[in-house]
Amino acid sequence: MHTRPTDRMQGRMKRHPAKVCGKLTPAHPTDHLAPPMPSEFELIRRYFNRPCAHTDLSVGDDAALVRPASGMQLAISTDMLIAGTHFFPDTDPCDLGWKALAVNLSDLAAMGAQARWAVLGLALPDVDEPWLSRFADGLFHCADQYGVDLVGGDTTRGPLAIGVTIFGEVPNGSAIRRDGAHPGDEIWISGQPGLAALGLACLQQRITLPTAARTRCIHALQHPEPRLALGLALRGVASAMLDVSDGLIGDLNHILERSGCGAEIDATLLPLAPLLAAGADEPLARRCLLAGGDDYELLFSAPPSMQTTLAALSTQLQLPLTRIGHITEHRGQLLLREVDGRLLPPLVSGYDHFA
Ligand code: ADP
Ligand code: MG
Repeated sequence: MHTRPTDRMQGRMKRHPAKVCGKLTPAHPTDHLAPPMPSEFELIRRYFNRPCAHTDLSVGDDAALVRPASGMQLAISTDMLIAGTHFFPDTDPCDLGWKALAVNLSDLAAMGAQARWAVLGLALPDVDEPWLSRFADGLFHCADQYGVDLVGGDTTRGPLAIGVTIFGEVPNGSAIRRDGAHPGDEIWISGQPGLAALGLACLQQRITLPTAARTRCIHALQHPEPRLALGLALRGVASAMLDVSDGLIGDLNHILERSGCGAEIDATLLPLAPLLAAGADEPLARRCLLAGGDDYELLFSAPPSMQTTLAALSTQLQLPLTRIGHITEHRGQLLLREVDGRLLPPLVSGYDHFA
């Protein structure tokens, strides 16, 4: 479950008044003075029915028909984005369309799967065609970039909410799971975790950053790049992997639990420099890196023998890959080796919607 801190959003959140749930038909069908409102089916045709590349039957029937290649397993994941919980209701719908698909693709990347098909569940408070048009633009921009067919969905009236289910393919037995880490494996993180958390802090007016850094951080929050190419390249290289959505430390704990081991993170290896360069002070940079959400970077373990392969991959993909620590045999124990050599529990944790 990809989560976004409700508590951090409160104060900015505009609550939607309670709406009657139901089909997305015109609110006042008998109002002859108003311009005719497009039906639910017309909206789907206009905004969500696009040609597909690798689908037998797509939008328009009761179910889509797809054909996974032989020897492949289907990798399936779903994520919801709820207005006020995962995003500000006034977020640019183009960014939202991108992000709704991107966060799902990130889950496939984390399995080492190839993305193929998506379905979209959409609850809308009312028919707002400029909004729908921009939302669809963002969604299809992401779909085109990563070769995904939108093959179906459901559209209904309700408080603004977006659910995407994604289907990918991975050769039988080749998926990179959370339970494969071994003591001695090294721990790696892709890209620049922490920028998105700085972006959220900017939007909430909790920090002020120089304009260029602010723009970069907000972009990281609203336009995450799913690391699909990296995920595919890590088959046979990474021993365990997940994508970081709820904070690096909290998500690393999921690998430790599933793999039955512990970890030691080395504070001197943490990629803090870009966060400091953006204008964060050291404690904030560290908190954003270790516990900020919405990174959608890949966190993985790999045997030390893979260092050269990973360095080459980083160059090839033009994506930083940073070694930040190693897996230990101490089940469930996550420790941070401080700059002065002390070994301490990290004083930050991931986000939990229900904690
Ligand atoms: P049904 O009533 O049989 O469930 P719907 O009327 O909900 O079908 O949808 C009609 C067609 O439009 C289906 O093929 C469905 O998958 C597709 N569809 C509905 N909403 C969306 C959406 N938001 N994005 C993509 N396809 C959608
Ligand atoms: Mg339906």
